[in-house]
Amino acid sequence: MSIFDLPRLAEELPFREKALWHRIYEIDVLHGKLELVPGLRSWVEEKLGSGPEVENQKIIRTTNLISGEGALFNSLRSRRPTARFPETDLESLVEEHRSNCPFCSPEERTPGERFGRIRGKYCLTAANLAKYDGYHGLIIAREHHPLRFNEDMVEDYFRVAARWFQEVKTDAALRGGGPALYPFLIWNCLWPAGSSILHGHLQLTVAQRRPYPRLKQLLDCSTRYGHRYGSNYFQDLYTLYKALGLGWEKGESRFLSMLTPIKEKEVWILLPPGPATPDRLGQAGRAVGRVLGRLKQQACLQSFNVGVYLPPLGGEAEPGGWEDFPLVVRLVDRGDVFNRTADFGAMELFALSVISSDPFSVAGLLKPSHNAEFSSG
Ligand SMILES: [Zn+2]
Repeated sequence: MSIFDLPRLAEELPFREKALWHRIYEIDVLHGKLELVPGLRSWVEEKLGSGPEVENQKIIRTTNLISGEGALFNSLRSRRPTARFPETDLESLVEEHRSNCPFCSPEERTPGERFGRIRGKYCLTAANLAKYDGYHGLIIAREHHPLRFNEDMVEDYFRVAARWFQEVKTDAALRGGGPALYPFLIWNCLWPAGSSILHGHLQLTVAQRRPYPRLKQLLDCSTRYGHRYGSNYFQDLYTLYKALGLGWEKGESRFLSMLTPIKEKEVWILLPPGPATPDRLGQAGRAVGRVLGRLKQQACLQSFNVGVYLPPLGGEAEPGGWEDFPLVVRLVDRGDVFNRTADFGAMELFALSVISSDPFSVAGLLKPSHNAEFSSG
């Protein structure tokens, strides 16, 4: 199954799912035509694919009518030759960075918060030296190697994050309470993902007064959807994805291989609505660890971004749509660490994302039915 089967799959959906499809998505099948000149033909056939395939390229454009997200898919783009940095060995680079790594001795070489540090089995927290929001901390893994983690470790990172958010809530209350507090958890792994320090670490922020714009936009879209259709947007989205073979669940976690990814292989993990407690974040962490582990194993994952949308720290008293808003994890693959060509250009920044990974292949890599170990993990 591939993204190019999507128009047919959508038409073959059962009645209810088909109605959801037409409510939420629109799809365009586009044809990019060109004429190969003789001097180019053999090079193209060696690097990109057969002549007719290149001369008549098929492109799919997906649009989410509810959220406004969209993507352009053309698998040929993943075969484009790209320039690479001369280094080719990530393992030696990781070892080189071990000497003089500030995160390998965090107690001595990273700042603490006013409320001290939180220590977990596999990590501890620090204050970020150059904060980008009023509350901005770090979770520093005890393991130096940024790709050496398993489900237990990621669960611990996420549990510690929940405890850090509680400390911020207490700290804010001690200073007289004040504005609403919106926690946010991110993980940038290695340079293509925007990380400046090689040693594995996650970042924690708490936005004050209002959530960050991307989260607010999703919250508003889903709230409007609820009012208009009388059902939960995320529930409907999952029902549709499951019917298309792009959604699956394990325990309370639901996984979706996105049709409008912001970048390659975007996966969403949804957990039922509720506060950001250590147990719930730990559960999300296990699911994240499982997906990342599988991508490391099956798709040579090196660099990635994870972002977690969480409800405000004040709980149910907060206004506006949170009672139906799940815990949402977004995760993308940022590609080869030695690639010179950035995967974000003007299209991604100002228009919509151009994607070469097929959401059906991503689902194929991750779905439990294809992997017994995954389903029992
Ligand atoms: Zn280190």
